[in-house]
Amino acid sequence: MTVKGLDRVFGGELISPDHPRYHDARKVWNGMVDRRPALIARCAHEGDVVEALRFARDAGLPLAVRGGGHNVAGNAVCDDGLVIDLSAMKAIQVDAAERTARAQPGVVLGEFDRATQEFGLATPTGNVSKTGLAGLTLGGGLGWIARKHGPTCDNLLSAEVVTADGEQLTASADDNPDLLWALRGGGGNFGAVTSFEYRLHPIGPEVIAGGVVHSFEDAPEVFRFFADYVATAPEELSVTASTFRAALGFPVPTELVGELVTMLAICYAGDIAEGERVLKPLRSFGRPLADLVATMPYTALQSGSDASYPNGQRNYWKSHYVDHLTDDVIAEVMEHASRMTSTLSSFYFQHLGGAIHGPGPEIAAFGHRGAAFDFTILTVWNDPAEDARHLAWARDFFTGMESYSTGVYVNNLGSEGADRVKAAYTPETYQRLVELKNTYDPENIFRVNQNVAPKGQR
Ligand SMILES: Cc1cc2nc3c(=O)[nH]c(=O)nc-3n(C[C@H](O)[C@H](O)[C@H](O)COP(=O)(O)OP(=O)(O)OC[C@H]3O[C@@H](n4cnc5c(N)ncnc54)[C@H](O)[C@@H]3O)c2cc1C
Repeated sequence: MTVKGLDRVFGGELISPDHPRYHDARKVWNGMVDRRPALIARCAHEGDVVEALRFARDAGLPLAVRGGGHNVAGNAVCDDGLVIDLSAMKAIQVDAAERTARAQPGVVLGEFDRATQEFGLATPTGNVSKTGLAGLTLGGGLGWIARKHGPTCDNLLSAEVVTADGEQLTASADDNPDLLWALRGGGGNFGAVTSFEYRLHPIGPEVIAGGVVHSFEDAPEVFRFFADYVATAPEELSVTASTFRAALGFPVPTELVGELVTMLAICYAGDIAEGERVLKPLRSFGRPLADLVATMPYTALQSGSDASYPNGQRNYWKSHYVDHLTDDVIAEVMEHASRMTSTLSSFYFQHLGGAIHGPGPEIAAFGHRGAAFDFTILTVWNDPAEDARHLAWARDFFTGMESYSTGVYVNNLGSEGADRVKAAYTPETYQRLVELKNTYDPENIFRVNQNVAPKGQR
């Protein structure tokens, strides 16, 4: 493909298949994704986004938009099309007095947390510091302080957007508020966002975090305790029950290395003394193998799990929202966990509620706010020859949990089809998203994503 014309006006870097860095530039976090774009347009500024978009439209090329490139579905890249790669746009501006911050779309969570924590401030993000802020925000954003301050998307005050026709729009409470609503959870369907403005909150700098580890044998009691305990937990406290195999070096007795364990991972972001009190029942419950709970900087918590999510492994996630951790649910997960095929796989129940539950659907497209738990199976392995058995395990587990499902978090979806995208929203919200898609992107230019198709298209 000739890039003539675009190369004259483009300020960033154009990476075509003959470029020495092409194969690096087309990689995303999930090693299962192996797409070969015709051109990667690594933008330096908003003007580049407009030019790249026009070029793709004129050439009739499929278009993908890349923020941090961490989404499991791999929609940051496409085959035979143009990638608007925003990963080099990394400016962050914090206004500590106003408690707001602006971030460009290449910023990853750790960069944003470090910049805002310099002022003792934060906006809720996610739990792994190298994931992209852009995709996280556009899909919702569920992290350690969301129960206190809402999902990331609720804290999005405004955005600068290049829409499908190349127009540069502001989405805020005053300008195009319907577009702001759609960006708060409706994903990349409405344009390429070139700047995000967030509300900040005082956080830390120290929080209580870590986890209490139990044997898998004790997991049913641990799950039951977890369900009861979080039902009355304050909004400052977030707890995730996670089941995985203890790797070498994980602080459990030697005979349990390689065995399944269940950890109640926590963050208490509030008064430390009060947190110690609130956490007492969780830390004294049952027969813990290890208590890793400690006071630590918020930024240390945010980056503490990074090493568990290396780039390039094969990842297949399946997910449901679940409202009740009943004995039936517990029996189901125990059965599937005991048949886990990969030593690298895991699954978790992340307790939600609190401020996530708070506002109504008029605030944001983000769906299913009432869900109590995000249940996600993280199937992870390295050898492509083993794909079939790991996929089969995950699918079987997912199917087993289907009757307890109350929806799904859009950022956890793989390439699962239109019905699963619908399942991420209530019918009313999905309908409104379709109407706004008709307004802002009637030709579905932005379709390499968890797609909300305009009316009449699939
Ligand atoms: C290891 C790991 C941990 C995670 N932990 C959490 C967590 O704790 N909480 C949580 O809520 N989620 C979590 N996620 C999910 C994560 O939020 C999503 O995968 C998110 O989409 C990643 O953002 P990204 O910018 O890296 O995405 P990308 O892969 O770059 O993009 C994802 C989607 O967003 C679109 N997009 C990206 N940037 C823009 C833009 N600027 N304008 C328009 N569209 C854009 C893309 O086109 C694509 O459709 C995690 C993911 C991983 C891999």
